[in-house]
Amino acid sequence: MFVRNLFRLDLKHLILLLAFSTAALTLVNGLFASYQVQRQLLIEQALSSNHAYASKLADVTTHFLLNAQQTLAYNARMLSSKLDSPEARHEVTERLMRQSGSFSSVAIIDPSGRILNISPDTLPVLGEQLTDSSTALALDEQRPMISDPFISPAGNLLVLISHPIFSPAGEYQGYLAGSLYLKERNILSNILGKHFYEDGSYIYVVDQKKRLIYHPKRERVGEQVLVNPVIDAVVAGEQGMSRVINSKGVDMLAGYAPIPAAGWGVVAQRPVKATLTTLNQQMWRVISNTLPVVLVTLILILWLSRLIASPLRKLAESAQSLDHEDTLKRIHSVRSWYFESDSLKQAMLTGVNLVHRQLGRLQDAAARDPLTGLGNRRSLESAIALHHSRNTPFSVLAVDVDHFKAINDTYGHDVGDQVLKALAERMSNCFRKDDLICRAGGEEFIIILPGSSLDSAWVLAERLRQEVETNAIAPLDQLHISIGLAEWPLQADDPYEVLKYADKALYRAKQNGRNRCELHQSE
Ligand code: GH3
Ligand code: MG
Ligand code: MG
Repeated sequence: MFVRNLFRLDLKHLILLLAFSTAALTLVNGLFASYQVQRQLLIEQALSSNHAYASKLADVTTHFLLNAQQTLAYNARMLSSKLDSPEARHEVTERLMRQSGSFSSVAIIDPSGRILNISPDTLPVLGEQLTDSSTALALDEQRPMISDPFISPAGNLLVLISHPIFSPAGEYQGYLAGSLYLKERNILSNILGKHFYEDGSYIYVVDQKKRLIYHPKRERVGEQVLVNPVIDAVVAGEQGMSRVINSKGVDMLAGYAPIPAAGWGVVAQRPVKATLTTLNQQMWRVISNTLPVVLVTLILILWLSRLIASPLRKLAESAQSLDHEDTLKRIHSVRSWYFESDSLKQAMLTGVNLVHRQLGRLQDAAARDPLTGLGNRRSLESAIALHHSRNTPFSVLAVDVDHFKAINDTYGHDVGDQVLKALAERMSNCFRKDDLICRAGGEEFIIILPGSSLDSAWVLAERLRQEVETNAIAPLDQLHISIGLAEWPLQADDPYEVLKYADKALYRAKQNGRNRCELHQSE
């Protein structure tokens, strides 16, 4: 029952459904829209700050490379006339190592590719012949260069920044080179490596061939990354920002800028997830802050829906029991505080009033004898029940017209009816308002006299009998009636028993010659 009431499709639940769904939709829509706007904003901010960052780092790296090349150029010039002196060469390489702090190692290579000098001198490669393609290129081109990464004879993955050495006569004598060990701490990692964050943001540098020159994970240095649109763009010399899935499948927000001096590119990137973490926390905070207002709104909606539905529900309940005695009272008590409920209430009041009046009329008609307008057996029964329940003593007169059949036979049935009607009217005039006169059937009548003793009833019965006897009803010359009397509760506890006694007394009146009254004699 409770469950059925809970889910009944009534006005209250419909209002609740409407209000709840509207409120929920508005709330969710608002939260979603603000989430989307903020998300887009955060992504754009992260992209542009990564771009700015990558540009800045590209500038710093460019500056370093140019600076390194200038230093090498100066020292190459210094060496031009002293290349034959081992001390001079040693002094230059040592100074470059110690002063600049930029290089992992410094070496002087002769035009055949042989290492003339190397610092630090712990490296066991002095006098070795370099055969790699970068060395070959540098020797061939005879100009300042930054090499591709390659593995040195000492086994280090490195890039070389080199400058040619020419004799005062302009003869090519080899080159002076500073190296950066890519897999160890170097000046690049000093510049870039500080920028590795806990949240997964990091920087990396690629060369022209899309090889990682710098990466916070050292083991990845030297790896070639071919399927990354950001790397494609930056090695093509472009700068910008882009959302990209990196080679490990992580959704990243990347900013990138090229280092034209080396043909390299710097990429700064942050995971989308890390960028949005604060937003998610913020949204949860917004939701938890809105929760009290949402709760208050829900309670308000509940209360209002109840308030709106209440008058209509009460009216609907009353409509289901229009025949109840207290329906009018119940409809009156409904607080119809808005237009529609009030109109409905007024209409129902009018309708119920009408129904009750009609019912009253029908009940009245049902309790009346159509010919004489007197009460019938039904009204007799309800009167007896009433007196019985209230314990009001009463006397009963059982009245019967004498030889009525003869009247019918002589004057016809219609005249018989007229006589019955006139007799009824006469009886009505003889008794009080509280006395009940009923037509019990045919030409027999029962009169109930509440509060009358048998003695006073006798007087009234005699008066009626004489009145009928002395004032004949036209067209008859004369009319007689016989009356039997009994009284409740003196003569019997059961009022219907008393009715029978009155009948018996009437029977005796007939037997004793008619046109007379007889009392029931208790044995
Ligand atoms: P008694 O003195 O013994 O009462 O004789 P009675 O002729 O009055 O009694 P009986 O019971 O023999 O006849 C009653 C008659 O009343 C029979 C019936 O035709 C007539 N009657 C009953 N109801 C009506 C009625 O509504 N209209 C008319 N006109 N006659 C009726
Ligand atoms: Mg009769
Ligand atoms: Mg009779």
